[in-house]
Amino acid sequence: MKAALNMKTRIVVLGTGFGAFRFLKEAGRIPAEITVVSPRNHFVFTPLLAGTTVGTLEFRSVIESIRTACPGTAFHLAVAESLDPETKTLRCRGAFEPPGAEPFDSHYDTLIIAVGAVPHDFGIPGVREHSLFLKDVRDARAIRQKILECFERAALPKAGEEERKRLLHFVVVGGGPTGVEFAAEMHDLLHAELRRAYPELFPEVRITLLEAGKQILSAYDGTLSAYTLRHFRRQEIEVRMETAVVRVEERRLFLKDGGEIPYGCLVWATGNAPAPFVKSLPFDKDPHGRILVDDHLSVPGREGIFALGDCAASIKNPVPATAQAAEQQGLYLGRALAKRLRNRPMPPFRYRHQGMLAYIGGHSGVADLSKVKGRGFLAFLFWRSVYLTKLVSLRNKILVVLDWARTRIFGRELSRL
Ligand code: NAD
Repeated sequence: MKAALNMKTRIVVLGTGFGAFRFLKEAGRIPAEITVVSPRNHFVFTPLLAGTTVGTLEFRSVIESIRTACPGTAFHLAVAESLDPETKTLRCRGAFEPPGAEPFDSHYDTLIIAVGAVPHDFGIPGVREHSLFLKDVRDARAIRQKILECFERAALPKAGEEERKRLLHFVVVGGGPTGVEFAAEMHDLLHAELRRAYPELFPEVRITLLEAGKQILSAYDGTLSAYTLRHFRRQEIEVRMETAVVRVEERRLFLKDGGEIPYGCLVWATGNAPAPFVKSLPFDKDPHGRILVDDHLSVPGREGIFALGDCAASIKNPVPATAQAAEQQGLYLGRALAKRLRNRPMPPFRYRHQGMLAYIGGHSGVADLSKVKGRGFLAFLFWRSVYLTKLVSLRNKILVVLDWARTRIFGRELSRL
């Protein structure tokens, strides 16, 4: 925190998620040489990602190119593999190159670690091999293709009754907001377009949500979690609580209570785990493997290294691992480093909780705000308007509005699922 930034200061930012993107937008004013290293050359507006799995939204509507959005910033499409804090050197590998390929080094004066997290599989056998995650556009695209594949396979004359039922069983594991929002979007697709396109298959389709705990949306107010459960049951989404998955095979999964469930498409949404790079760092971590940071988002005892978003945990003031927290941290760090440049003290980071929203299907939402607990159609309108406001560019906002209008008027395009 002692040295002031100057023209020669090299800031390296790892990641292109909410924290990194917000930092980059803010850091445009810092006269420093900024380099971004990330295996993804675009920012994804993840709160609307579930809608892209079923074609409510197009993929390009929720992404923003880093090169276009952050001109003047150098970008390397690469993965940071290790860090030497003594020589302030990162060892990186090009994203198109296989592990073990010749690396390249990147030197920094200030390092911002915003690499996010990876899907948590709790080491459950078969999860990585057979299920689909929902963290990125690539995942959403794979889910879209899998849904269509299941319907087309089930429609073949050779599919027997048992096989058809298996193919048409869509199972979601994890009753957090990711699992709930995917189940909701899948329900909408089923009842709007798939019902008309595959009338003979429709009666056999099932959506099941499996949750190990006693509640879905457990981080939300209890009334909203109970409302979501009732709403799902009305929509014929089968919700099974206290049902933990312990093993997954290609066509069936196994439960802790000894039961088995055949599935055609399995979406796994049981939360986040530390990325391999974070695991490799010789820093103090919290019990979830996240880098401990002080209230300036600085890694204690490591001059010039900051961490934010899902890969970091505050020692004094814990913040939730959400997009809004990462975004606030990125904004803070951009402003704080600009202050440091002017030799002014960096104020501590303060998190402001703006509430939590979720879409639960059938034009219904839940809104958990500090003073209001909203649900139903009004909460759905609120959910849409908040995320529309928060989208990061005018281009994204226009594309998303057009997608919503297109879906409303013409329906989702099944041929392009
Ligand atoms: P989560 O951690 O919120 O929920 C995961 C759920 O999976 C938990 O309820 C857990 O009990 C369950 N689970 C774990 N292991 C299981 C098993 N073996 N079998 C069955 N169930 C199991 O995860 P998430 O929904 O991916 O969310 C991750 C983070 O992203 C959270 O901080 C969340 O708030 C945030 N997020 C927010 C929104 C939103 O605000 N709308 C949307 C998506 C994600």
